[in-house]
Amino acid sequence: MSYPYAYEAPVSQTLFDRAAAVTPGGVNSPVRAFRAVGGTPRFMVSGTGPYLKDADGREYVDLVCSWGPMILGHTRPEVIAAVQAAVARGTSFGTPGEGEVELAEEIVARVAPVELVRLVSSGTEATMSAIRLARGFTGRAKVIKFAGCYHGHVDALLAAAGSGVATFGLPDTPGVTGAQAGDTIVLPYNDLEAVRTAFAAHRGEIACVITEASPGNMGVVPPAEGFNQGLADLCRENGALYISDEVMTGFRVSKAGWYGIDGVRPDLMTFGKVMGGGFPAAAFGGRADVMAHLAPAGPVYQAGTLSGNPVATAAGLAQLRLLDDAVYETVDSVAAEVSGLVSAALAKEGVAHSLQTAGNMFSVFFTEDRVTNYDEARKQEAFRFTAFFHAMLAQGVYLPPSAFESWFVSSAHDAAAVERVAAALPAAARAAAEATA
Ligand code: PLP
Repeated sequence: MSYPYAYEAPVSQTLFDRAAAVTPGGVNSPVRAFRAVGGTPRFMVSGTGPYLKDADGREYVDLVCSWGPMILGHTRPEVIAAVQAAVARGTSFGTPGEGEVELAEEIVARVAPVELVRLVSSGTEATMSAIRLARGFTGRAKVIKFAGCYHGHVDALLAAAGSGVATFGLPDTPGVTGAQAGDTIVLPYNDLEAVRTAFAAHRGEIACVITEASPGNMGVVPPAEGFNQGLADLCRENGALYISDEVMTGFRVSKAGWYGIDGVRPDLMTFGKVMGGGFPAAAFGGRADVMAHLAPAGPVYQAGTLSGNPVATAAGLAQLRLLDDAVYETVDSVAAEVSGLVSAALAKEGVAHSLQTAGNMFSVFFTEDRVTNYDEARKQEAFRFTAFFHAMLAQGVYLPPSAFESWFVSSAHDAAAVERVAAALPAAARAAAEATA
């Protein structure tokens, strides 16, 4: 299949060629490379509100929002001012600082199950550390995760993972040894019976169950009614910890993330993306008695030269402090409007699809059946997404370059931005309808 417009980005193409000469695949995170959809990845040079500008000078309505973090849109003045002020005071001290305390207090105040929190620099670090802590606390080795859930590139969790691993159809990755993945039990998502069976088969061996609070890394596949509560209950009954990964949903789908929507109380939680305000800041936290096992309070080691970095914490804090009820109402209504427009345009062209939402996160599966797990997600007609993606890109709308990712909007997506999306949809829906495998 060829998409002539996919190559009308000469400056991006030149940059991509240079990048490929010095960086594997030309990117620093695989999904950015457009391999799933083909064509030239756009090198972005600036962002303002809901828009991104690429190196060829073209503007796009951004429906990726840096994969979630930019919930207020790009270059929000208050966030930029906080960053500039922090930079002027110094960029890293390697000592404790007040900003870290304030960010931790903000997280603890928003998310009731978080009694103590530790700051790290990426979502991957957060989940890796939470798993280590769960193992250290319980003295057990095994971890249950779900197929299609992505928790960053933690060795033990790169089994049947979503996101880039789903995009590339890798069942696993070379470099992860049997020993590293051998204690990981991968189960189908939304299948409580499978979890019950695993606990029975491995009595006294399971340290924790880790799940995305509401998965967005195989596309958006929310938990079935009672699923998260069932996980929490099974963990409690079996002496295991329930870890809710809110790196994507945290502070995005509500003030308290997915916990603010379903109220299921985890033992440990992980955060990233929105809490960093576009900078590398992430966290894990939860029950005080569990967190007290972390060094230097306890024996489970965890550390980081740049953990709680003053610039990153200033950005995160400034963003979080702006996230009041009004912002969430705006983001929710923009998401409902955009997703509704997408679904209507596809329906008009007779394209079978399932629009799936989780708060203000949403994605479209090119299949008529509702998707409840990873196997079902993989049955969609992803080639239709490819055609849809390129038609949107050509008309100035930037979607995630994969059919297996959530779309994100921000409070800066105003009527003009939504109108630009609406104007691009009829041609994109037609392209999806006409696409062939
Ligand atoms: N957990 C979830 C649910 C994620 O969506 C991601 C990233 O997309 C991660 C963990 C890893 O975060 P990071 O990319 O910051 O390492």
